[in-house]
Amino acid sequence: MQLIFLGPPGAGKGTQAKIFLDRAGIIQISTGDILRAAVAKGTELGKQAKAFMDKGELVPDSVVIGIIEQRIQEPDCKKGFVLDGFPRTIEQAEALDAILAKLNIALDHVVNFEVPDEELVQRLLGRAAQEGRSDDNPDSIKNRLQIFKDKTQPLIRYYEGKKILRHINGTGSTTEIADKVKAVVGV
Ligand code: ADP
Repeated sequence: MQLIFLGPPGAGKGTQAKIFLDRAGIIQISTGDILRAAVAKGTELGKQAKAFMDKGELVPDSVVIGIIEQRIQEPDCKKGFVLDGFPRTIEQAEALDAILAKLNIALDHVVNFEVPDEELVQRLLGRAAQEGRSDDNPDSIKNRLQIFKDKTQPLIRYYEGKKILRHINGTGSTTEIADKVKAVVGV
């Protein structure tokens, strides 16, 4: 099963992807995690990505598309995967379609997590205090929410058009939300 978890920063996509892995055994691919690992290792990719990430800007499409193209061909993706934080632009979504078509893989569901802005900001500031992520500061958070509205929200229409979009109210406890995910994807 191939899924996309779509939603603004702080919507709980990563948390739900981990719960889904425990339940269904389907791996999570988070471009944010891959990029943060590259920054931590100080690789060439990490050096390119860091400045964008700290400001809350998107890393260039060509970079993240290349990451995904390689990652989904690794053996642990055979059973399927949950894409968390990718695609984030129409260009990324079109590139993903082309990659999946070439590999003869279908997308089953795009789960759209809806959470009000005020709650997102509270969650991200809370995460800043707990995890100390360098991009969870007020300026970067504001930027990421704006970029979500400008660049990522158009993907809702894009996937609605393909009839694979499922909406979920992303407020409530993590177990409640996990149950909603189960209800829409069937596992
Ligand atoms: P959040 O959803 O809280 O913003 P992520 O871990 O998904 O956290 O992403 C952190 C940062 O990594 C983003 O602000 C962006 O700079 C970069 N990034 C992650 N995924 C992508 C992507 N698909 N396209 C461009 N940049 C990305």
